[in-house]
Amino acid sequence: MNQQLQPNTTNIMPTLRARLIGGNWKMHKNVAGTTSFFESFLPLVGSPKHCETVICPPFLDIANAVKSTRGTNVRIGAQNLYWANDGAFTGEVSGPMIKASGCSWVIVGHSERRRYFGDTDETVLKKTIAALEAGLTPIVCIGERQEKNVETVLTEQFRDGIAGLSDKQFAAIVIGYEPIWAIGAGETATPEVAAEAHRWIRTQARERFGTQAANNVRILYGGSVKPDNACNLLAQSEIDGFLVGGASLDPVSFAALVRLLSASQVLAE
Ligand code: PEP
Repeated sequence: MNQQLQPNTTNIMPTLRARLIGGNWKMHKNVAGTTSFFESFLPLVGSPKHCETVICPPFLDIANAVKSTRGTNVRIGAQNLYWANDGAFTGEVSGPMIKASGCSWVIVGHSERRRYFGDTDETVLKKTIAALEAGLTPIVCIGERQEKNVETVLTEQFRDGIAGLSDKQFAAIVIGYEPIWAIGAGETATPEVAAEAHRWIRTQARERFGTQAANNVRILYGGSVKPDNACNLLAQSEIDGFLVGGASLDPVSFAALVRLLSASQVLAE
């Protein structure tokens, strides 16, 4: 079956959602490391046509990443932003600054930002709106800390964050489902568990924004995705792509994931 065609369970036409992969480098690599990553990575993927590819390096590597990927289909994103456009906010970086540096994407509300830097559902909403106003596509991350109360946690994070967007704003975001217990743990959620969580998020989206909007929104899975477990995850039609930490640092691993997503999109067409 066409993996990207969603079953028509809600009297709405099925939706073709384009595959997407994001690489979150976290606080890894300097300018030289960025250059050498792209020197290896780009020849391995060419200019991927069937999978949107976004790499989010540390702020100081963005200029080099943008330069290194010019003329390719690879896009660059930031890992965080502040919601004001400018002002006395020492150490912060705004959406317009990120946009001007050549980025088109930004990760918002990553669990490490929530855990170590005080992001809350409320500030995640402010950052998401600021990103959209700056012309950036936000990947808004949600996910439970432990393997329990998954639906309750996702419902609360959705209600207190994403649900505050307007219909138009919601149509422009991507959601990252990242169970915190699977991040950097070497173990992913099983494909079935991940798909169940994605379905739950889509249910929240349907209740707040309607069926069409819920069918259209892309939901990425993140948490120890690697070339050897990606295939099974991708077999779940609910999973539209991945947000990848550790495996995005290695050009060979990340290229293998891009090629896998790209090939599965071709099959779906
Ligand atoms: C992440 O931090 O977004 C992530 C998914 O990390 P990892 O792939 O290393 O689990």
